[in-house]
Amino acid sequence: MPFEQTIRAAVSCEGVGLHSGAPVHLRILPAPAGTGIVFRRIDLDGFEIEAVGRNVARVSYATSLQKKGVLLSTTEHLLSAFIGIGLDNAIVELDNLEVPILDGSAKPFVELVTQAGLKQQRKKRTYLRILREVEVREGNKFIAAYPASGYSVSYKINFAAPIGEQSFEIDLARDLYQTELAPARTFGFLREEKAMRDMGLIRGASEQNVIVVTDTGVKNGPLRFRDEFVRHKVLDLIGDLALLGKQVIGRIVADRAGHAMHTALVTRLLRDRSLWEETTDISRTGERAAAMEMRAPEFIPSR
Ligand SMILES: [Zn+2]
Repeated sequence: MPFEQTIRAAVSCEGVGLHSGAPVHLRILPAPAGTGIVFRRIDLDGFEIEAVGRNVARVSYATSLQKKGVLLSTTEHLLSAFIGIGLDNAIVELDNLEVPILDGSAKPFVELVTQAGLKQQRKKRTYLRILREVEVREGNKFIAAYPASGYSVSYKINFAAPIGEQSFEIDLARDLYQTELAPARTFGFLREEKAMRDMGLIRGASEQNVIVVTDTGVKNGPLRFRDEFVRHKVLDLIGDLALLGKQVIGRIVADRAGHAMHTALVTRLLRDRSLWEETTDISRTGERAAAMEMRAPEFIPSR
């Protein structure tokens, strides 16, 4: 039976926010069992914002939390890293409004935490087990959650050339997060750069933290994976679903989704308590989940 975990000792890093361009120091501190992930704005008298669905604010090119007018932006890569390595409880101190983008992936956060190490706590980890399917559609965008025995994600994207169609599927129970997802970096189209800067976005973007996609290829290659784009979308999705406040037991399927669709699924789930249950028992699988699993083909992540 898995137990909750926190970080063994405080670690810190610094960087700039992708959208604000603001310099920021970040510290990850141990927290008691049952705390969850709590952001603390030390530039605002230690004001705390819990990383949970009810604090989701505006969501467009990144996911932001807001509580009593206090904003905390671009939480997805950090929260994704925490889910991926099984860090349940931590205080994340920041002295500005946006999480640093670092290299554009979740890898630096994974390395920070693994440097300090994880410490098992006395409380059994509570999971959110999907009991009934839930599907969200918006035009040609789609996202859904289905009952299953582990946590798996299947994602399909369809962007303009040269990215085109990519799909990726991963079983997170198989400890693949660190090698297959964490290093996948965020990306942007060079031809959209000016419009985004005019909107006050991507002020902190550089060739060191974003894969720059031109009409014909990648400006600042090489890529870390041939399908790095769709892998990054999976990384983002895991970070956004972290706002459920618990590790998920279920199968997530997304097609051309983005932060807005990801958080729409979080909201739908949190609103309808009949779609899921809390459990500490990961061995017991609902009859329906077992039946669905038998139909689901085994998959091997594509390279
Ligand atoms: Zn991202």
